[in-house]
Amino acid sequence: MATNGILEALRHFGLILIACSLSLPVQARTLTYADGRKVEAELVGLTGGQATLRSGTREFAVPINFFSRDDQEFIRRLASGGTKSTAPAVPSSPHRVNQTVRRTYSDRFVWIFGWELNKDSDVGEMSTVLQTASQHGFNGAVVRLGPSNFRFAEYAGRAEQLRQACERNKMELIPAIFQVGGGGPTLMHHPNLAEGLPVKDALLVVSNGEARLLSEPLVHLANGDFERFSGNRFASFQVQDQPGEVSFVDKNIKHGGSASLRLENFTANQYSCGKVSQAISVRPRRCYRTQLWVKTVNLQPASSFSIIVLAGNRQLFKQGVNLAPTTDWRRVTLVFNSMDATKLTMHAEVWRGKAGKLWLDDWTLEEIGPLNVLRRSGTPVAVRSDAGNTLYVEGRDYASLQDPNYGPFKLDRDVAPLKILPSSRIVNGQRLRVSWFHSVTIGQLTPMCMGAPELYQVFDQEAKVLAEKLHPRRVLLNMDEIRMGGSCAACRGRNMGELLGECITKQAQIVRRHMPGAEIYVWSDMLDPNDNAHANYFLVEGNFAGACQHIPKDIVIAVWNRWPREKSLKFFTEQKFRILAACYYDAPDLESVKQWMNAMSPLPNVRGFMYTSWEKKYDLLPQFGALFSPERKAP
Ligand SMILES: [Zn+2]
Repeated sequence: MATNGILEALRHFGLILIACSLSLPVQARTLTYADGRKVEAELVGLTGGQATLRSGTREFAVPINFFSRDDQEFIRRLASGGTKSTAPAVPSSPHRVNQTVRRTYSDRFVWIFGWELNKDSDVGEMSTVLQTASQHGFNGAVVRLGPSNFRFAEYAGRAEQLRQACERNKMELIPAIFQVGGGGPTLMHHPNLAEGLPVKDALLVVSNGEARLLSEPLVHLANGDFERFSGNRFASFQVQDQPGEVSFVDKNIKHGGSASLRLENFTANQYSCGKVSQAISVRPRRCYRTQLWVKTVNLQPASSFSIIVLAGNRQLFKQGVNLAPTTDWRRVTLVFNSMDATKLTMHAEVWRGKAGKLWLDDWTLEEIGPLNVLRRSGTPVAVRSDAGNTLYVEGRDYASLQDPNYGPFKLDRDVAPLKILPSSRIVNGQRLRVSWFHSVTIGQLTPMCMGAPELYQVFDQEAKVLAEKLHPRRVLLNMDEIRMGGSCAACRGRNMGELLGECITKQAQIVRRHMPGAEIYVWSDMLDPNDNAHANYFLVEGNFAGACQHIPKDIVIAVWNRWPREKSLKFFTEQKFRILAACYYDAPDLESVKQWMNAMSPLPNVRGFMYTSWEKKYDLLPQFGALFSPERKAP
């Protein structure tokens, strides 16, 4: 399979490498890849199965088994100091000297992002991008789609219009599917498949046939109403940046009571930061909700405010709060789990603030009951008596514990009670210890559980629909930024690298079941030890290291780590994967893309590139196309 993959990659290269130097320590040779394509370069060394070649001033490593059998032998012989020749010497050709390295790539994609096909105008706007891309040498459009949404006629209709727009523009439509890290439409239709964080033995008390959480008094955010202070210094907050210079008591503008906290003049802080923080005691494995009121005037940048929860050095939660630069008082609500911690630090901060003002007031913290509770294999509910002697039975003692209003962003609402059934052994006034699992959202993302078998049934359905409606020949697996895992009973204790690899492998099998022969791409970050494939990644219980050893080698890796890109490219080359370089990332110019080009051009396993914008910035598509197609003139 791997060898076929490499041959397939080489067939698609369209590779033209032209030698750059005649001053050779070892004479330049024409070397032949396994599929017959040629590269002209000097052999510099051979280490651990990797031949180091030099072309012009660049050196690059190529696994020796990428070459023809004859040249593998030739390289080994040359490296061991044997005779220099069985391959013919490069004929001296003056017109080749000092020409630049030039390649054409089979994959010339654009990532079209920011439209959800939830309104008719989306297709028109996306078509404009398609047209520009097509006119400038691109041949594929990668678009995040939610196959579960095809059940809505409007969505299916717009997806069909998009397919037709791609066809008109001679662009291949490449759906990006199976979004595990962020849930997306799959989560919307199957909320119980979210990854679950455990609540263990929360105290619920029965009254009038319903049990509700009784917050145990341990948890308390002190002086959250910002009413106790001395000068500009608030009581109970262990950290308050530069009172009287960056942080102030404001008695004129407040949400409640007689004062609020105002942050401003951020550049007076060495990190352009303004924050308050407080250490609190919590119970481990409980669900907490924090709410605070915020007001801004000309805050720059508007995205600079966030709430962070730390347990020691571990970041349990961070949420940037989407605020307008100027907004009247509004309530911010966030939910997190204390995991194993008994001590937390709550931070409210403006980070890298440039100008403007932000006020905080009436900041609360409470333990809450089963909000966004999950029900599936791996997320059991347990209800027992406070004394621990009796384990009650769902359906007999209490009704199935569900959250009828489940929503990753619907956090500011009443929590549904546990309903006690008439036949129950539980009596009014009784104290219960209740355990469940709930989802959380980190940085707008609600991850799915990779260990839940039901997830793959849903993916199978999605792939079937996608194959029937759009007939794609390639797909991108949306396996990026998976910030939770290993915490519910379906995935706890698993080696996370293995589980991730297993998840991608199952996805690939599902895709090919419904789309035989489809080419499969996957985002790189979760597989890349230079990026997210490591321990201590957000709330993940375990370590993603080694995940790429558990996926099929014929999957193409869409490498998007901006830095150190050379390390990432080298890593996936050594692992014998083919690569799609996902570059650009909304920079003001293409300087970084040029650096990508330099890093990519010597590698034998790069299929191409993808112009990757997350902010609908497609102005540089023409120049980008010209960079990769030198015969084209930039406008
Ligand atoms: Zn799980």
